Amino acid sequence: MAVSVFPCGFDIPCDGYACHRPAKWFIGEYRNHFIVAKLCDDCISAVIDGLKQHGLIQEPEPEPEPELELKMEPPAEPGGVVYTCRVCGAGFESSQKLAAHVRYQHNA
Ligand SMILES: [Zn+2]
Ligand SMILES: [Zn+2]
Repeated sequence: MAVSVFPCGFDIPCDGYACHRPAKWFIGEYRNHFIVAKLCDDCISAVIDGLKQHGLIQEPEPEPEPELELKMEPPAEPGGVVYTCRVCGAGFESSQKLAAHVRYQHNA
């Protein structure tokens, strides 16, 4: 019979060292009520961490974050002038270029 982890339905303390929380998980053989360990959430996650450290559990690669659409402004027409400097009237195709212009040319 295979050893497995299954939920603990009894009100019994965790087997973890100096742990007095109620057990939530049994490790053992379910049908024969053969219990190797009774563990709470904290202790069983410590066991899982140990298994990972020994390479017995492969952590799944995190899903790559979908690329955020950073289109805050309408795309400028090619060669089109969308943003106009309020100080000197010069035109720029992006707000970033206008901001850089204002910063460097007008010390704003
Ligand atoms: Zn515990
Ligand atoms: Zn300007």
